[in-house]
Amino acid sequence: MRKFFILACAALIFVALKNLDATRLARVGGAALPFKMVRLYMKTPDKELAMPVEGVRVGQVGDSWHAPRSGGRVHEGQDIFAERGTAVRSATEGYVVRVGQNALGGNAVWVVGAGRRSYYYAHLDSFAPGLAAGDYVTPDSVLGYVGTTGNAAGTSPHLHFGVYAPEGAVDPRPLLSDRPDAAERRASRD
Ligand SMILES: [Zn+2]
Repeated sequence: MRKFFILACAALIFVALKNLDATRLARVGGAALPFKMVRLYMKTPDKELAMPVEGVRVGQVGDSWHAPRSGGRVHEGQDIFAERGTAVRSATEGYVVRVGQNALGGNAVWVVGAGRRSYYYAHLDSFAPGLAAGDYVTPDSVLGYVGTTGNAAGTSPHLHFGVYAPEGAVDPRPLLSDRPDAAERRASRD
């Protein structure tokens, strides 16, 4: 009976975690889920994503979604090319859940945003100084700088930008929106 109770509790916890997509979060490093993050998690996903690479327009992004990659993989994201060192800003409001290295992505940042979506910024030359898991970010926040780390070594510097919904990877390109350039920003302030 006691054994059954423990099993039932474990099953309930498992279902609760699965509904929060905490398995994905745990995988990207955010095992502890702060309450504010859960609140953001419950909102509807962002319908528009601010262009994450400074000075690049959506029209300049060549479509590399699902392009074939080594080992039979397909490209689960978009590559956004820019000069090495160009600032990469968060495309959304969210919480940084991981700042670190992996073999394919090199220097990479994971941000969790509204609607259980994760945003992946990879091949960074370096991270924004002091950036750490748990940081709250907005589309104004710099996450790092465009580079060629990971399996982008030897290619033109670019940001690999991935968007993951609970059901899987989503093409970021149709969601991207241009940021107002500096001149437009000045005009809107006047
Ligand atoms: Zn890529």
